[in-house]
Amino acid sequence: MWQQTPAQPVTFSGIGLHQGQPVTVTIYPAAANHGLRFVRADLPGRPEIQAHYSKVVGTLRATTLGEGRATLSTVEHLLAALRGAGVDNARIAVGGPEVPIMDGSAAPFAALLAETGLETLPWPRAYLRVKRPVELREGEQWMRVVPGEPRITYTIDFNHPLIRRQRFTVPLGSEAFSREIAPARTFGFLKEVQYLQTNGLARGGSLDNAVVLDDSGILNPGGFRFPEECVRHKILDAVGDLALLGLPLYGRLEVSRGSHELHWRFLQHLMAQEAAWSIWVPTPRPREQQPSWFQPTLWEGAPA
Ligand SMILES: [Zn+2]
Repeated sequence: MWQQTPAQPVTFSGIGLHQGQPVTVTIYPAAANHGLRFVRADLPGRPEIQAHYSKVVGTLRATTLGEGRATLSTVEHLLAALRGAGVDNARIAVGGPEVPIMDGSAAPFAALLAETGLETLPWPRAYLRVKRPVELREGEQWMRVVPGEPRITYTIDFNHPLIRRQRFTVPLGSEAFSREIAPARTFGFLKEVQYLQTNGLARGGSLDNAVVLDDSGILNPGGFRFPEECVRHKILDAVGDLALLGLPLYGRLEVSRGSHELHWRFLQHLMAQEAAWSIWVPTPRPREQQPSWFQPTLWEGAPA
């Protein structure tokens, strides 16, 4: 109902997946309607990059944002944790070209945010409410949203004995994210990992930050965290990419065999269909449940 921001700054470090170098990140609280913005703290002038789909400059294996010559890769897991926790506003200072991969999931970020706590801001949260179905199909991949309670259903189909067809549904904007989705790790195939490392990519990649599969099984000694960890991770990626709308989506989303590229194209397609959605501010709570500093003038006149 109300916009939120972390209660205080929170700092963490880890290595970037591709460069394999240590990176430090500090998430600072921000005012209402600031949105989620990254800062390349290591570059002269500390350039700012808004977490917005119009700033996407790359979608190969990760989502990369850019502003001018400043870029930032692998933003999706951190954005998923922020959106999953209900953080609307934050300034995220990153000391390198990629967000640390941590354990390949969003669980470390979600745990830090839970530990830090959130502050409620004196401004209601707006949603992008879906009024009509919107669909994007590209060959066997498709993505669709229809009006309804916010939730996401994802389907993947890999020709691998431990994956095959997996399908999973989770409500959006609920407690379920930190429990069911945040711990799901990114996954890759050994052949692909070897190819990437030969080409100087995924230098930081290891079994500590990804599920790696060979032709018949899983290389991680501990196995999967969930039987359908792969499809859960695809939901994590989608939640992170959807955060680039700038406000939470209120609708039923369904994705089949998606990718960062498809998620991004879908956001552009959805936003171009202006008759299919509206900016919606839910009716405020009864007066006694409003924060003591509540000022009705702050929300009156907001688009319905
Ligand atoms: Zn991912």
